[in-house]
Amino acid sequence: MKRILVCVKAVPVSAFVEVDSQHRLKRDGINLQWNAADASALEAALRLAGEDGSVTVLTMGTSKLESPLRELLARGASRAVLITDRRMAGADTQATARVLAAAVKKLGDFDLILCGCKAIDGETGQVPGQLAAALGLPCVSNGETLEADPDGLTITRRLETGTQELRGRTPTVISLCAYSYPLRLPGILGMRRARNIPVEVLNADDLGLLPEQCGLKGSATKVLAMESRFPGMRRGPKETDLTLGAKALGQILREVRP
Ligand code: FAD
Repeated sequence: MKRILVCVKAVPVSAFVEVDSQHRLKRDGINLQWNAADASALEAALRLAGEDGSVTVLTMGTSKLESPLRELLARGASRAVLITDRRMAGADTQATARVLAAAVKKLGDFDLILCGCKAIDGETGQVPGQLAAALGLPCVSNGETLEADPDGLTITRRLETGTQELRGRTPTVISLCAYSYPLRLPGILGMRRARNIPVEVLNADDLGLLPEQCGLKGSATKVLAMESRFPGMRRGPKETDLTLGAKALGQILREVRP
């Protein structure tokens, strides 16, 4: 596999994040990490590319992502591209995919485009399919393993109750499940190499996109309301009596596990 592009998204480290009055995630001042499924996609790409191929990492996000991208260069990526532009803030999934697709077209021909199957913050899992549609390519979701041979690719997909094996041709877009390929650590040589590779920075003008195609303006959907719900937690009356509290708890447990 010669040329592979991996879409990587920086997501908050903590589940406790704030949103602004327009329901936009406040990304300033919070610690970010690369989405776990995207790390899997990068490792899969590095293995498929081997010594002869190239792996480009592409992200849309804040200007602060330059240095985290450098870390991915140290881990083996050959090229890192950051799309950053205030006009892109507040993008919904379609606007995100439109921008990523414009960048993919500008950066050249790729044999394979890998994504994570979902980002842990937006958590829609829509971007890979929308990106494939914008590029006119097929898309395979929830990939667990990927093998390449001269005739194409064999992909194992994770299903809710098992797995499915598919054969496909390139170019294609594939989304990978988190932790299917643990990402390698950066080595000393990789860190040295990364120092000499510039992170390429693009904005809407570079991609030939109009302001109304990006960010909030370019989004067909709008978040109207948000409510936090933590898995396994539910509201109920506060019980101060120990015996009554134990009874109430027993009742809840019977409902959850009859
Ligand atoms: P998913 O589809 O779950 O991501 C799958 C994969 O796509 C990732 O693993 C990664 O490989 C790739 N990918 C996704 N995003 C990127 C990226 N930025 N760069 C590179 N690769 C990427 N967020 C806001 O902050 N402000 C808003 O106003 C806002 N409005 C929204 C409105 C709606 C209706 C929706 C559905 C979402 C909105 N979001 C908003 C969330 C925002 O759309 C998403 O963060 C972003 O579009 C990606 O969607 P996702 O996180 O669900 O990605």
